[in-house]
Amino acid sequence: MATVTNTVSGKVKPRAAVLAMPEYHPPLAARTALRLDFNENTFSPSPRVLERIRTLTAEDLTKYPEREPVERVVAAHFGLRPSEVLLTNGVDEAIHLMCATFLEAGDEALIATPTFFMYDVSAKMMTPNLIKVQADETFAFPFEPFLAAITPRTRLIIVASPNNPTGTVVSRQHLLAICEAAPQAVVMVDEAYFHFHGETTLGDVPTIPNLIVARTFSKAYGLANLRAGMIAGPAELIGYVKKVCSPYNMNGVALACIPVALADQSYLDWYTREVHAGRERVCATLDELGVPFWPSAANFVLMNIGPKHKELCEAMRAHGVLLRDRSSDPGCDGCVRITIGVEDQVTRGLAALKESLQEIAWTFPVKTATPEGEK
Ligand code: PMP
Repeated sequence: MATVTNTVSGKVKPRAAVLAMPEYHPPLAARTALRLDFNENTFSPSPRVLERIRTLTAEDLTKYPEREPVERVVAAHFGLRPSEVLLTNGVDEAIHLMCATFLEAGDEALIATPTFFMYDVSAKMMTPNLIKVQADETFAFPFEPFLAAITPRTRLIIVASPNNPTGTVVSRQHLLAICEAAPQAVVMVDEAYFHFHGETTLGDVPTIPNLIVARTFSKAYGLANLRAGMIAGPAELIGYVKKVCSPYNMNGVALACIPVALADQSYLDWYTREVHAGRERVCATLDELGVPFWPSAANFVLMNIGPKHKELCEAMRAHGVLLRDRSSDPGCDGCVRITIGVEDQVTRGLAALKESLQEIAWTFPVKTATPEGEK
């Protein structure tokens, strides 16, 4: 007997852009080991945030969340007007909203690669014209070619500083030059890793008409599970994004925690100090072991492991430590990323790394590519 199914396959199709856009499925399964793979805070949010969560009542959970009062607190914290701030469901949602707000189907969006993959997903949802400027093997921001790639059709530019997965930064001077070179485009500076670096363009928001700065509560603040991020920019541009955004995009638990997290500067200072110290230890150990890496301004370091990148990640997993294989990112063949946690986690991570490199008989990666023309 023929089975009846309610499949509509072949009849209902999404937009062509949705069929064409790439998918992003980070390997989230079974992350019960030491999480040095996703660059979140690896420890805890401020204890005051946990206290605040315990005060939430049953009635609090029954209410639709109210974003505006918290936006006023956030704006005051950063010396901005409430109309210049939008709280988002993580920076992921901010990226999605920016693309939905500013990109028409034929427009160009511009990014430098390698970078955070969600820019690809969200931009391609709107337009096939995502222009990528590849960095060279230093992973320094390719400033000149990037400027040259700006056209009259460029409508959205996204730059992460510090960048993921490389840890490299773009100077404020270069970012402002990009804003000036593309007055017809919105320039989104993604400062997800700001706290581990310290330089920002947030102070330029009141004076630069096409600059939008994104921040997250997932990294230094330790609230990745609550999905909280923000964008700050000129009131007019933020107003357009607010039109696209759902009124209830932020959950009330996150909204209750954000003011407390922002106010606990001493927790933030402690966590960033741990990361700075850990980063120095990781880099010193990599130097000792002869593992090439890129200097990082973020809470992670990108290592060049070479052909044994997968083996290393598997060996580390067997030691109870998760790393992120970034080998398939553009220009990152053989690269593996390690997140920096607090002191004891760095100690465990480095011990596992030393053992794992030995177990896989790792040696300095020798370039295997044959020069052009030679076979
Ligand atoms: N931007 C960059 C550069 C990131 O690396 C990440 C997290 N991987 C995000 C944004 C997303 O942050 P959120 O958790 O706020 O969505």
